[in-house]
Amino acid sequence: MTKKNHTPTHTLLPTSTAGSLPKPVWLAEPEKLWSEWRLQGADLQQAKQDALIVALHEQQQAGLDIVSDGEQTRQHFVTTFIEHLAGVDFNQRKTVTIRNRYEANVPSVVGAVSRKQSVFVEDAKFLRQQTDQPIKWALPGPMTMIDTLYDGHYQSREKLAWEFARILNEEAKELVAAGVDIIQFDEPAFNVFFDEVNDWGIAALERATEGLTCETAVHICYGYGIKANTDWKQTLGSEWRQYEAVFPKLQQSKLDIISLECHNSRVPMELLSLIAGKKVMVGAIDVANNQIETPEQVAQTLKKALQFVEADKLYPCTNCGMAPLSRQVASGKLAALTAGAALVRQELLG
Ligand SMILES: [Zn+2]
Repeated sequence: MTKKNHTPTHTLLPTSTAGSLPKPVWLAEPEKLWSEWRLQGADLQQAKQDALIVALHEQQQAGLDIVSDGEQTRQHFVTTFIEHLAGVDFNQRKTVTIRNRYEANVPSVVGAVSRKQSVFVEDAKFLRQQTDQPIKWALPGPMTMIDTLYDGHYQSREKLAWEFARILNEEAKELVAAGVDIIQFDEPAFNVFFDEVNDWGIAALERATEGLTCETAVHICYGYGIKANTDWKQTLGSEWRQYEAVFPKLQQSKLDIISLECHNSRVPMELLSLIAGKKVMVGAIDVANNQIETPEQVAQTLKKALQFVEADKLYPCTNCGMAPLSRQVASGKLAALTAGAALVRQELLG
């Protein structure tokens, strides 16, 4: 029994998160990215569902308009998806440099890749049963997937990206049938490999969205608040103009929503004019510190964005996922997001 999909556009400035939320202490070690599960088998299955209910509850308590699973059922935003695919060997690991930034020991592509089974569809059905609110579901984007693997088979980043795009499209279609309203593809790699993004990255992403009857989003951020990312940000200078390289082509793309890092970032807000006409998820919460924003600070970021984004296309959001934060800090930040959005909404509605 699938409920009808919900159109999330009836609220002005609908709030949501970029994706992940902290996991409860009984599911995985807290305040650590990609931490190991604490249970196994049927117990783990049950615990993941319970954690999803907690994550949903916290979003509802904070008053978010568009909710998600808080990524409670995945350990890593890319590899958990890849674990369900044929053609990738998790025992043959190689060290690669992720997004030209940090080294990681990653699995190898050893043959043709395909989706053996649905990955998140049961989780999405479970979330759909818990709420009538609009649901956003995050998937990794094709370019970010290839950047998190060693490819000993296709030996072509582009070829592998097109294969992943096809697989993601299969999964996304099932997620829509399960009642998901917005599918978001996470493409932090779009902030790094500009030539490839323009040559085939956006085209591959569009392939992943082909025939989807829900809204589609792409999340492009400067990464989780881990040291490799915060160190990298220090090297980017006083103005972060990375978005400028990919926005013109994204503006022409079929994607409905662009999700961006804006709060405390050095991204010049006027770059948003390059994606005129798109809906924009404006990151108004910093996920790289433990300081809880005031509603006024959130409102200030949203108002800056409103100079370049029409009010009915602005979706207040977090800069990125909040998995590495404590639950207390994350709930404080969620509450600040909705309070800040409410301030701006009041002003707009007079
Ligand atoms: Zn992100």
